[in-house]
Amino acid sequence: MPSVYLDHGATTPVRPEVVEIVNEYMTTIFGNPSSTHTFGRTAKKAMDEARKRIADVIGANAEEIFFTSSGTESDNIAIIGAAYQHKEKGKHIITSSVEHDAVLDAYKFLETEGFNLTILPVDEYGMVSLSDVEEAIKKDTILISVMHANNEVGTIQPVEEIGRIARKNGIIFHIDAVQSFGKLPIDAKMIGADLLSVSGHKIYGPKGTGFLYVRNGIELRPLFFGGEQEQKLRPGTENMSGIVGMGLAAELAVMEMDKEKLRLSKLREKLITGLLEVVPDISINGHPENRVAVNANISFSYVKGKELLHALDLQGIAASSGSACSAALDTPSHVLIAMGLSKELAQGSIRMTLGRENDEEDIDYILSVLPPIVENLRSKPQSYEQKEEKEECPCLH
Ligand SMILES: *Cc1c(COP(=O)(O)O)cnc(C)c1O
Repeated sequence: MPSVYLDHGATTPVRPEVVEIVNEYMTTIFGNPSSTHTFGRTAKKAMDEARKRIADVIGANAEEIFFTSSGTESDNIAIIGAAYQHKEKGKHIITSSVEHDAVLDAYKFLETEGFNLTILPVDEYGMVSLSDVEEAIKKDTILISVMHANNEVGTIQPVEEIGRIARKNGIIFHIDAVQSFGKLPIDAKMIGADLLSVSGHKIYGPKGTGFLYVRNGIELRPLFFGGEQEQKLRPGTENMSGIVGMGLAAELAVMEMDKEKLRLSKLREKLITGLLEVVPDISINGHPENRVAVNANISFSYVKGKELLHALDLQGIAASSGSACSAALDTPSHVLIAMGLSKELAQGSIRMTLGRENDEEDIDYILSVLPPIVENLRSKPQSYEQKEEKEECPCLH
């Protein structure tokens, strides 16, 4: 049976070139970058090179790149760090309803700390409106966080324009670029971000790596204390081998971006048109044009996404329902709900995210396997009408 991985939005396999360099920096060149002997200095040099590589591909300066353990940590340091640092100026913060939980839950934490939240709605394509951003701004607004590309439906937000609005009003602007890095061109200065988060394992780098771009002059209060690392913003001995690996992965992702974008958008087109031809009562979610090439989010009426994913898994196909949380608990996606889908349709939606290893054959396989599975699930109406179990998703609260 073929094995087809279509969940690159959840994580990606580490590229062989990256595995090789990470291995070298875990074994041969293993020093602590803070040590002053040769082992330490060699490690420090490799880490500085990785920092420079990453800075170069996003048009930043090396000292504006801070290594973290993940996209989640980058988002938290950016949002909570900015809010705490600037709370004397104001306590109003803005984000959107389709953000990743790493952003939304950081905002909800800040609400318990006395900050006032505005969570912007989106249109049917998952897009934030600029007039909503303008209208949400108050005298005491200190932070706006809006993602670049959405992880569930692939819609690209108008971040440059939001950045301009933020700058005009003297408000700090954070972009979660975890799903866009290596898929869309990112120039930190042009995109107008003060803060920008990226994760290593979404770009064929190691898990447990990430970075945060902090524009020169933007001050953040650290969340951790105890060392001099990362200019004291993120103390703790660095994941040096992981950082070196992420540096290479980032560079390669940007180098191959145009070619992969073209290839993957063709595969996506083949997948979508193929499904629309043979499966009745389906709809495609997300913006039709302003989107990343890798993402296909599809709603199947009269089908439970959870059952569909399970049936696909039995055929060797790995897809997802958007976020790990709703995948486990069958809670409808907050993104699809914000876009106006009914609870039933949101629960009948799955996300397929393409990546480097996927090819035409994979798509042919899905197109042969998926239609009969859907037909079969639809012919068992009792499974669809089964009473909802009262399970609460912790991420939504
Ligand atoms: C995956 C993801 C994150 C979290 O990154 P981790 O490195 O897995 O913590 C944050 N934001 C978005 C949009 C993501 O897709």
